[in-house]
Amino acid sequence: MPLTLQRPDLLLSSHYIDGHWCEAVGGSRYDIEDPAREQAFASVPDADARDAQAAVDAAHAALPAWRALPARDRSRILARWNTLLLEHRQDLGRLISREQGKPLAEAVGEVLYAASYVEWFAAEAVRAYGEVIPAPVDGRRMTAVREPVGVVAAITPWNFPAAMIARKIAPALAAGCTLVAKPAEDTPLTALALVALAEEAGVPAGVLNLVTASRANAAAVVDVWLRDMRVRKLTFTGSTPVGQHLARESATTLKKLSLELGGNAPFLVFEDADLDAAADGLMAAKFRNAGQTCVCPNRILVHEAVHDAFVERLVARVSALRVGPASDPQAQLGPLINRRAVEKVERHVRDAVAKGARIMAGGSPLPALGANFFQPTVLVDVDGRMELSCEETFGPVAAVSRFADEAQAVAEANATPYGLAAYFYTRDVRRIARLSAALEAGMIGINEGAISSEAAPFGGIKASGYGREGSRHGLDEYMHSKYLCQGELGPGQD
Ligand code: ADP
Repeated sequence: MPLTLQRPDLLLSSHYIDGHWCEAVGGSRYDIEDPAREQAFASVPDADARDAQAAVDAAHAALPAWRALPARDRSRILARWNTLLLEHRQDLGRLISREQGKPLAEAVGEVLYAASYVEWFAAEAVRAYGEVIPAPVDGRRMTAVREPVGVVAAITPWNFPAAMIARKIAPALAAGCTLVAKPAEDTPLTALALVALAEEAGVPAGVLNLVTASRANAAAVVDVWLRDMRVRKLTFTGSTPVGQHLARESATTLKKLSLELGGNAPFLVFEDADLDAAADGLMAAKFRNAGQTCVCPNRILVHEAVHDAFVERLVARVSALRVGPASDPQAQLGPLINRRAVEKVERHVRDAVAKGARIMAGGSPLPALGANFFQPTVLVDVDGRMELSCEETFGPVAAVSRFADEAQAVAEANATPYGLAAYFYTRDVRRIARLSAALEAGMIGINEGAISSEAAPFGGIKASGYGREGSRHGLDEYMHSKYLCQGELGPGQD
């Protein structure tokens, strides 16, 4: 099926270095597949170390002028970029749906979410205040100013092809940094379109460089940036093993790091919860993007007194979900990203059933729709020995277990190396206070399943990484503080 865009020029086939749309130096290309049909529908350059080097040279050369630009001017460019993203939301949504698989309405929703970060950081750009410090001794003036860290390397995953990269580019540009970026190999087309609109908005040549590479070449590209002392910041969203590798390898050049890594979110339903609200919240949190989000509940813990009533509500909702390709306007759930993802979901379900879990809904692939489709699934009698309790399933499987009391629920919720998101439903205000303190996660949904917002600090603790995206803290990740101590001012001066 052809990809029809109102702006056909937003389907790009070259990558972007130093203001030029160009091929990889080595001339290689690789194909981009539609996960619904497993058919190649586009191709992009397959970069290697030489392209990565050219990108970082360009970003370094562009840095002095960009950081010297008044913050108000950088803010205006970001505001224009936001306007263009909103104006072209349908085209960008079509690109996301085609390369990533999510239904069009959800994809357009992602564009709005991506744009919200650009709007937010357009406003934050002009608020990078420093401080005046009361001097402890006479005759000195002590101040601290905030400066852009320098060249930023951004590496992003495929599950949100627009939002993950927008929320790195926007604060970096707002802070006065320049960037080299590599989108996930599965979903570079949305990122390229975003960059084309950034260029249209007035981002100067060299300030934002996007290099596309296949999985085989990803490490070769990123290694160049890891080794380069001029790259002062690495911002990454992806798996914990790759995040750990990047942290290790960036140690020699001591880069500032933001790592948004895997999760294993618990979702707790207490005996006093509004069960319909909890089931609705779980549907929103679990099945968005077919369960392929790092904040999606991976372990659903339900008090034994309400377990059956909750599962009944959940099964009714899950069974009503319509699965299909993004070309089906009624579809609520698309395919998984690739066969590897389907195999992992199948393995998790098989392992859970072998260890005693029961399937209450779904449980199988949907080959009639395509090799990457999997039924939305509910499992009960899940326990901590099963693979899906220990590892992120990253698919449409709601794994439910029972608990007897709050202490057990909290202990099980925290029994994971990860700490990205957690959710709980209860109407007891004291319990809300206790759990807000006890749960080990960077973000907590309290009677709420949809927690993401550009206005809030997004990020994790423990093996889910560090650094925060969005909110008033988001800009700090791309800035450092410089302390200025002026002496010889004479008595009475501070
Ligand atoms: P996923 O399993 O969801 O694909 P990954 O962490 O493997 O998550 O990938 C996230 C991003 O990290 C992608 O852009 C991918 O190309 C990149 N990546 C994967 N392996 C490496 C590596 N060894 N070095 C640098 N980047 C990598």
